[in-house]
Amino acid sequence: MNQTGKFLGTRKCDGFFAAQKERYFAVSFDDVRLVTDYSEILPTQTSLKSHFSRNVGLNTPIVSSPMDTVTEYKMGIAIAMDGGLGIIHKGLDPITQAAHVAKVKHRLNVFLTDPICIKSDDKVADILRMKEAKDYGFSSFPVMDNNGRIVGIVTSNDFEFCPDIENSFISDIMSSQLISALPGTNVMEAYSIMCKHHKKILPIFDDSRNLQGIYTLADVKRKITNNIEGYNLDKNGSLFVGAAVGVSADDRERAELLVQKGVDVLVIDTAHGNSLGVVEMLKYLKKTYSNIDVVAGNISEGEAAKRLVAAGADGLRIGQGPGSICTTRITAGIGHPQVSAIYECEKAIRGSGVPICADGGIRYSGDIAVAMGAGADSVMLGNLLAGTTESPGDVFFKNGKAVKVYRGMGSLEAMKEHKTSRQRYGQIEGGTDKLVPEGVSGEVLFKGEVHAVLHQLLGGLRAGLGYLGVKEVSFLKENADFHLVSNSGMQESHPHDLFSMNEAPNYRSPR
Ligand code: 5GP
Repeated sequence: MNQTGKFLGTRKCDGFFAAQKERYFAVSFDDVRLVTDYSEILPTQTSLKSHFSRNVGLNTPIVSSPMDTVTEYKMGIAIAMDGGLGIIHKGLDPITQAAHVAKVKHRLNVFLTDPICIKSDDKVADILRMKEAKDYGFSSFPVMDNNGRIVGIVTSNDFEFCPDIENSFISDIMSSQLISALPGTNVMEAYSIMCKHHKKILPIFDDSRNLQGIYTLADVKRKITNNIEGYNLDKNGSLFVGAAVGVSADDRERAELLVQKGVDVLVIDTAHGNSLGVVEMLKYLKKTYSNIDVVAGNISEGEAAKRLVAAGADGLRIGQGPGSICTTRITAGIGHPQVSAIYECEKAIRGSGVPICADGGIRYSGDIAVAMGAGADSVMLGNLLAGTTESPGDVFFKNGKAVKVYRGMGSLEAMKEHKTSRQRYGQIEGGTDKLVPEGVSGEVLFKGEVHAVLHQLLGGLRAGLGYLGVKEVSFLKENADFHLVSNSGMQESHPHDLFSMNEAPNYRSPR
């Protein structure tokens, strides 16, 4: 097992899937259930840590889909605060999409990478006037020399006890004995250094005194008291966020803007990932931004997984047509039932360390356990996160029920609105009256805050781990085996033989 939880050898369910493949049979969620096993652990003792891509970890293996009715900055923030990851959709124009990325990255703002700095030869009076004119609510500044190296810090005390404001220079009042830390110091380490030395500001700089940023006590405390334990944070203490790009020439500019705003992972968001355009874009992005993870998709066959990993993918997005709003399999006649698709892709790249995200078709928490048992490191959700407070769009009433719009990015409605949706489905020519949709638009019930939805989904996943005796979700694929389920077996699995049923927060009857 390596750090991404990638299993390197044979798996318990290899026999099950080999038997299906031998009869050219592929399975999806309702065809299988996980085999229970001896357990010494309780669901509450399980860990849900996983990876979306090589360098983007997850505290909970849930990723929100780059769809215009699912993920903009509000979802990005909420889901990362619950340990997952949001992928900002590319229906937004590039500048707006990049601004949404920035909003997520700056949400906790605990490590300021671009603090306001002053110079040692500035006059104290000038700085105080500037502070007032710009209405800065803070009085601590890193002080730089004329070569751009940090030489001191001033805080509110230094200004207050300055004996001659009009005639003093910053060099007269600054502290040059700096308490500092090296690049890479995380928020908890910063907090303990600040407490130990009673410092309200901690500059982070390298041996050559190049300032990388500062921690301020107020921000650090806010973050700590906010119980950030489960938040999905990068090494600077900001929320992780991803963003979708396409494969056109314009998308290179889009990627550049996203990278400038601090995106952690770019997702090449196409309907057919096993294609020249995706391979070329993947190679371009990896060559241009070697420190940014790139996830490629969507695919559903082992050969495709191998091709994208060989081209440099840091993660794969698996799923062609399983989504609740997809019609690709019906209109194009292609597709691979999702559980087999996940397994075959994982098997093809086993040992590579490249995580797999199972995208689409998840309706219940049990489907997450099944997807991860089949080989996924995370799941991507559209439907289950649409209709929440944090998803884009307004709540309205239909037949007396509060609902929100949820639509496929290949629906007529989305393709008419977004050029990028037309590109995703290869329909850039011909005008909007000639569109051939591969998705539908509809409504889902309003679900309230995403945190409550995730609580149920993750609770169900933890229960699944408990039934298998698996303490860490990253070990699930190693331990999972499957039963093939008959129609009557699945009927028996759902509630039955009741005169009426009260709705549960984690269960609705299948339609
Ligand atoms: P859901 O969670 O609703 O079952 O599936 C969401 C996934 O469906 C998305 O993450 C995306 O991969 C896929 N998807 C989104 N829009 C469309 C569409 O219009 N057509 C198809 N074929 N797939 C879509």
